[in-house]
Amino acid sequence: DHVVRVENLRKTYRGGVEALRGVSFDIRRGETFAVLGPNGAGKSTVIEILEGYRDRTSGEVRVLGVDPHRGGLDWKARLGIVLQNTGEAPAATVREMLAHFASFYPRPRDVDEVIASVGLTEKTTVSVRKLSGGQRRRVDVALGIIGRPELLFLDEPTTGFDPEVRRQFWDLIRRLQGEGTSILLTTHYLDEAAELAERAAIIVAGEVASVGRIDDLGGAG
Ligand code: ADP
Ligand code: ADP
Repeated sequence: DHVVRVENLRKTYRGGVEALRGVSFDIRRGETFAVLGPNGAGKSTVIEILEGYRDRTSGEVRVLGVDPHRGGLDWKARLGIVLQNTGEAPAATVREMLAHFASFYPRPRDVDEVIASVGLTEKTTVSVRKLSGGQRRRVDVALGIIGRPELLFLDEPTTGFDPEVRRQFWDLIRRLQGEGTSILLTTHYLDEAAELAERAAIIVAGEVASVGRIDDLGGAG
């Protein structure tokens, strides 16, 4: 049973950059899978294609059994998505923003519980615009999990976190894992992948340099 299947995925951007040159990997249900690689390797492009935001040039992709091209709102509601560039912060408070997003999902989590789980309880009634970069990133993560996703995409989730917040985030991920959430995490931190994921693909310049259990990849990152 796989939540993600990617076979020979290619993406050439307009202008000619070959961001992905034949990437293949699978993610099993309930597994946390890391896509590891340096900046520019193609990690964000992978996630943006899997969640249906970006078209692919060629290759086979199935996410929860569906081709992202054809994924409708029901399919989208089963995903949690934390991208890298989340745009301008709204004037709404943390709680208002989460309550608004929660209303899109059939079975959302409790808003205040989610706020607590990302360590923002003291900021509940503060405008998102007034938060620091790291705190906004935690709002992004909260928005990604509010809908109780079956499959969670996290694109470089801990960039800008201090070590304490990073550990807190790892605890949150472990709780989600305990609930059976499948997770695809991109990171350029080998320690983060080792901490959270069972298996990983190392991507370099748009190609999978190796894929397998983290313990077997340790020396390669
Ligand atoms: P596509 O429609 O091919 O998926 P976009 O519409 O997202 O691509 O991007 C349109 C254009 O924006 C690109 O052709 C490129 O010129 C520019 N661009 C956006 N992001 C980047 C980036 N990270 N690096 C280089 N160029 C970029
Ligand atoms: P990573 O997430 O690993 O840093 P990306 O997927 O963002 O890598 O980028 C992979 C390659 O594709 C890079 O060379 C980047 O400049 C290029 N790229 C990313 N987005 C665009 C875009 N919208 N248009 C053109 N080139 C892009």
